[in-house]
Amino acid sequence: MARLVIVSNRVALPDDRAARAGGLAVALTEALSRQGGVWFGWSGEIVEQPSEEPRLAAQGNVTYATLDIAAADHDAFYVGYANSILWPLFHYRLGLIDYRQASLAGYLAMNERFARALLPLLQPDDLVWIHDYHFIPMAAALRRLGSTHHLGFFLHIPFPAPEVLSALPDHERLVSDLCAYDLVGLQTEGDVRALSDYLTQEARGLLHSDGMVSAFGQRTRVQAFPIGIDTDHFARLAASATRRKDSQRLRDSLLGRTLMIGVDRLDYSKGLPKRMEAYQELLARRPEHRSRVVYMQVAPISRGEVPEYKRLRRELEGMAGRINGKYAELDWMPVRYLNKSFARHALAGFYRASRVGIVTPARDGMNLVAKEYVAAQDPDDPGALVLSRFAGAARELDAALLVNPVDVERVADALHAALAMPAEERKARWARMMAVLRARDVAFWRESYLAALAHARDTGWGGIRALLGRLGVGGAARAAPL
Ligand code: UDP
Repeated sequence: MARLVIVSNRVALPDDRAARAGGLAVALTEALSRQGGVWFGWSGEIVEQPSEEPRLAAQGNVTYATLDIAAADHDAFYVGYANSILWPLFHYRLGLIDYRQASLAGYLAMNERFARALLPLLQPDDLVWIHDYHFIPMAAALRRLGSTHHLGFFLHIPFPAPEVLSALPDHERLVSDLCAYDLVGLQTEGDVRALSDYLTQEARGLLHSDGMVSAFGQRTRVQAFPIGIDTDHFARLAASATRRKDSQRLRDSLLGRTLMIGVDRLDYSKGLPKRMEAYQELLARRPEHRSRVVYMQVAPISRGEVPEYKRLRRELEGMAGRINGKYAELDWMPVRYLNKSFARHALAGFYRASRVGIVTPARDGMNLVAKEYVAAQDPDDPGALVLSRFAGAARELDAALLVNPVDVERVADALHAALAMPAEERKARWARMMAVLRARDVAFWRESYLAALAHARDTGWGGIRALLGRLGVGGAARAAPL
């Protein structure tokens, strides 16, 4: 069995219990221990003079390799290009892009640096799986250094439509770099369509009947792999969480009122201001819910250094304050707004205690919270999910109450419908969603991706490249005609 090499911005190190607790981290760690290999990425440390050599830690057959980065590189690569250009662009927020050429230079330089540090750790037959928008140019950087490895990429965020993507000054370079991968995995068929449309319309590429795409003198496979959660484990966690102190404390604090919950990083893609407006609309138009429902929004602060996130934080504090100011009673606060993060087992209990899950992002690659909310429900008395049609999860969770988050009045209607939904309907919708979540859990996602990547190495151009690599004909491979 080939070794597996995972590359991601943050590495779930063996001693970092919080980072290793998430469904994705567990799924990747399982595959690494089964196949042996390396998890490579940023250490999370910003230092004055970072070493070019990664710091290595081993656990069993897995090596954890991390690089520190300098403050200026962090600003250009992480804050600048990844989070102030790619993140807003890929979430369709063109107005929020803060484009700087220095950010692009920092992004490319950091990808080169990471590629140079990774290459010596690789063995010829490794399967290399690179994650997310921080590292789109990593395969091209590795190829330039002579890598003939099989390189796969998975994008956790949405892939934008060609008209949106082409607003980026360096769109051609970015997509050309993406085509240096043997396999590009995206969250949904809609994302696959967006990239295929770009490749055929903007780059005059060709879609082949076997699912391969040729463009920019390269050949790659583009496929949807909707990421799942550890469904059964999460369901068990939620069932046992009801006995935990924090869940009991939450339930006791409600004094019999109905709980609606939202759990989102404090990010403008999550649609939080519109959600608050919708809740306010519900209270305004349906007075019967006043004093009877509580909306709890868990919103841990994220990317606090990016100005747009600071602005959003102020806006939400103002909105929550105004709703509470307008509607609160002596013994009732309509909104509980918490800028703190909770451990997964605590969240599992909170989801289960909530009659309604509100997940209304303006755009989201998948949205795992939507899936976790469903998995956490009591099968005999499940809650209802109000879900944005712009979350990747909406494709699989079509038995949720699907909404357009900008249509605040209709979202308020959906919240009302969720609160009023009879038990039989809640059960029927939940059973449909849970069946999908069980069939397509995170292990299914991981295995289908790795099978496709292994297949890419055995067939087509990937196989030829690997053979050339074994024969010692490295960097020439990329320049060869298709
Ligand atoms: N999460 C958490 N604690 C919190 C808030 C969120 O552990 O206080 C987890 C949540 O359970 C989910 C993940 O963070 O697994 C968020 O994933 P999602 O896809 O919903 O959004 P993202 O933050 O990746 O954009």
